[in-house]
Amino acid sequence: MAKKKDEHCAFCGRPKPETSLLVSGMEGQICNFCIDQAKLILEEETGGEFQAPDIKKAVLKPKEIKTFLEQYVIGQDEAKKVLAVAVYNHYKRIAQKNDDNEVEIEKSNIVLVGETGTGKTLLARTIARMLHVPFAIADATVLTEAGYVGEDVESILTRLLQAADYNVAAAEKGIIFIDEIDKIARKSDNPSITRDVSGEGVQQALLKLLEGTHVNVPPQGGRKHPEQKLISVNTKNILFIAGGAFQGIERIIAARLRTNVVGYAFAGHKDDSVDKDHLLKYVAPGDLKKFGLIPEIVGRLPVLSFLNPLSEASLKRILTEPKNAITKQFVKLFDMDGIELSFDDDVLSFIVEKSIEFKLGARGLRSIMEAILMDDMFELPSRKNAKKLRVTLDYARQKFGNAGLAKLKAAI
Ligand code: ADP
Repeated sequence: MAKKKDEHCAFCGRPKPETSLLVSGMEGQICNFCIDQAKLILEEETGGEFQAPDIKKAVLKPKEIKTFLEQYVIGQDEAKKVLAVAVYNHYKRIAQKNDDNEVEIEKSNIVLVGETGTGKTLLARTIARMLHVPFAIADATVLTEAGYVGEDVESILTRLLQAADYNVAAAEKGIIFIDEIDKIARKSDNPSITRDVSGEGVQQALLKLLEGTHVNVPPQGGRKHPEQKLISVNTKNILFIAGGAFQGIERIIAARLRTNVVGYAFAGHKDDSVDKDHLLKYVAPGDLKKFGLIPEIVGRLPVLSFLNPLSEASLKRILTEPKNAITKQFVKLFDMDGIELSFDDDVLSFIVEKSIEFKLGARGLRSIMEAILMDDMFELPSRKNAKKLRVTLDYARQKFGNAGLAKLKAAI
């Protein structure tokens, strides 16, 4: 039986004070929000035999969704807000009765623009975790048009099916994160001058999935062949979240804002309220088109938001604050061997500095931590009487040393 102070919902992880009701079962507890959500799922699965769910009660409200995201993702307030609203609307859309007379709510697929390692995938993954829906990541760069070497676009759905344990109904309400969507941009805004077949062809193929269609998916992936049994998946209610760094898009935004990106001097632009250091926040659908996404794709990704580069302070918070922060994970790993691990504050600053120095952003934090602790993770479990490990700055420097540097240099 869990101790009183550990009481939380076994489904969404909410601690008791954040719920209005926590019902105990044999193995764990469930909160009022998850009960409501389960009711909604029941309603969908049984095709309306139950009373229509009250969307106002059934799904977390945008503010609650954002609060959930705060537990895992540092900063990126604007993206969290936009995502929370989009997901809320997505669920309203799914809950909508199929009534011919009703206004049809269109799908709110999302596109996130931001440097790599700023939390795009993490946001999408966290949303999926919150909703308890299958989640798959697809790398747009490996996709090709049918008939070319590479993966067919349908392979994305194979991955989602696998994540759903081949439960088609669950997969059909899942979330797919399409990474590096910017890499399938055609090379020019003008299709008649540079017709980049691979990029545009993949975009056309993706378009069908985003719009909502029945796709025959090879269950084990790979190319379709005539004898293979295919599984039909309807993508109508799958939420697509696309992400990309869109390197150079600031130039397009700046040009639109009529600022001159070199030195950010204004070119006859009177409005100096433009935040020239953070141009991404002005990103608009037209900029994505200019970058090389076909207008139809941009149209099918109607929710657009951006992620800020992570500051030194944010990186430090990422090390310690999220629910599964890197330091917490290592403390847990050592704790399982009965060793109390702790870090001096300047060690955390050192890790952040190194990550910035090697331009690895948040992605580097973990590898640097690994490099520092590798010897101890190897040796301490077999050492009798090892009870404590306090990592000081000198110790971290020494352990990170040349081996760490070499490893990171290789990773760049
Ligand atoms: P992206 O998809 O933007 O390239 P990721 O979401 O894959 O970046 O981020 C890589 C890793 O860095 C994540 O797994 C996470 O550990 C960490 N990370 C990045 N951004 C954040 C953030 N804003 N808050 C917390 N952790 C982050």
